[in-house]
Amino acid sequence: MTAKIHSFESFGTVDGPGIRFVVFFKGCPLRCQYCHNPDTWTADGAKEMTDDEIVTNVLKYRSYYGEKGGITVSGGEPLMQIDFVTELFRKLKTYGINTCVDTSGFTFNPDDPTSVAKHEKLIEYADLFLLDIKHIRSEQHKVITGQGNEHTLAFAKFLSDHGKKMWIRYVLVPSLSDNDDDIRALKEFIDTLKTVEKIEVLPYHTMGKVKYENLGIDYVLKDEVPPTKERVDNAKRILGVLK
Ligand code: SF4
Repeated sequence: MTAKIHSFESFGTVDGPGIRFVVFFKGCPLRCQYCHNPDTWTADGAKEMTDDEIVTNVLKYRSYYGEKGGITVSGGEPLMQIDFVTELFRKLKTYGINTCVDTSGFTFNPDDPTSVAKHEKLIEYADLFLLDIKHIRSEQHKVITGQGNEHTLAFAKFLSDHGKKMWIRYVLVPSLSDNDDDIRALKEFIDTLKTVEKIEVLPYHTMGKVKYENLGIDYVLKDEVPPTKERVDNAKRILGVLK
């Protein structure tokens, strides 16, 4: 099987536990205003790679990953190529490699039996999900990403119902997602889930800005500034990350 890949990183430290081989897939159905990887949105310029090529690369660095580290698929939205990810993970599990998916959950459609079946197959081989919930209110989720959050929330519930571990990630952007009532509502939703191991608050940063200039895409958040430490701590306190 082949997939459309943007790039990979052999020693990633921010996408899941331990040291990880991170594969960035091409293609994403969302258009987050703050996305720092707009160069992954389309398949343009993708590198075609086979699952065996990726397995070989991961195994080369295996000793660095140990039991805690492993592989993370990211993007873009890796689950747009879910059949490939499932097959890749199936192969990697035969070598005992820890597998993790960084996703928005958008590809999961609870009303489509084919979609549900594909995600059921995937979770057989995936150890952990890093699930981005961009906003708890669907209208605001749509403002931020161009799409509502129904699939994302349904996917969180699906993972919980199937006993799959997840980390919830929340990007804090002053003008888009830093509202105490909304963060409280997010916490209430997270509290209904049984398998959340960790909640991460990711402060908005401006590092992706230059990519927009290079790609000739208008950067909507050009006047946005990162949240203050006080606001980040406030969000962490509401979400129970800081006491
Ligand atoms: S889901 Fe991720 S890759 Fe896709 S637009 Fe949003 S931040 Fe970018």
